[in-house]
Amino acid sequence: MTIQLLGTGAADGIPAIFTECRIDPRTISVGSKDCRTRAAALIDGCIKIDLGPDTMAQIQQNQLCPCDWDNIIFTHSHEDHFTVSELQYALYPFNPNEYAPFTIYSNPTVKWLIESRYPDWPFEIVQTKLFETIQIGNYQMTPVRAKHAEPEECQNLVFVKDGRTFGYMTDTGWWPDETWDYLSGVKFDSMVIECTDGLKDSGYDGHLALCELVEVLERMHKIGTIDAATPVMTTHHSHYGGSHAELIEAMRPYGCQPGYDGMTFSV
Ligand SMILES: [Zn+2]
Ligand SMILES: [Zn+2]
Repeated sequence: MTIQLLGTGAADGIPAIFTECRIDPRTISVGSKDCRTRAAALIDGCIKIDLGPDTMAQIQQNQLCPCDWDNIIFTHSHEDHFTVSELQYALYPFNPNEYAPFTIYSNPTVKWLIESRYPDWPFEIVQTKLFETIQIGNYQMTPVRAKHAEPEECQNLVFVKDGRTFGYMTDTGWWPDETWDYLSGVKFDSMVIECTDGLKDSGYDGHLALCELVEVLERMHKIGTIDAATPVMTTHHSHYGGSHAELIEAMRPYGCQPGYDGMTFSV
């Protein structure tokens, strides 16, 4: 699998909108590792994860072909991940399509929001169930429960293809026991996980600061989900949590590294 991190910012992005950004906006240009759009990723150019408010900028910056996105998977309905209005451009009258050229996979909340917004539009939506593996083309995908956005089922995603396993765990919080139980039977070859609060723990339990991520990684090591050779990259960074350079230094002892917009790697 080839993974592209298209966006690695938290909900307010970096430079943060409408607030005094901790990282000076005058030092941030497009392409700099401190320029973070809202969280999204792409697997092998064909599985799009989340469709947030920065989708168009991500298409432009990465020379993407959205017609290649056969599948769009939504993790949850928070607006940094789910911009329902973008879906309308997949169909007539914005183009000649009678049917959207992709299948949508989502939890019940997102499915309901799409169907409420577009009651007569022929979107194909597959409702995903926690801990139930589904086949998406050549991939097996299993959603696991995050502790985030409750009572909505925020889903973190486990992908398997050709014997390789990749975890895309944005907006996790501290996982509930059922997720830990599931992960004890999984061995990741690579993982992306949120570190929203970085060096500044906000106290909010729906996201992770680095001190909490370190505990998560320790427990994952103990149960065998990752080992010292497993690449771990982070995403969903808030400006409060530190600059890319600060995060590299802070994460070095723990065997993980901050992701950045445009980061591409193979699993
Ligand atoms: Zn988010
Ligand atoms: Zn969220």
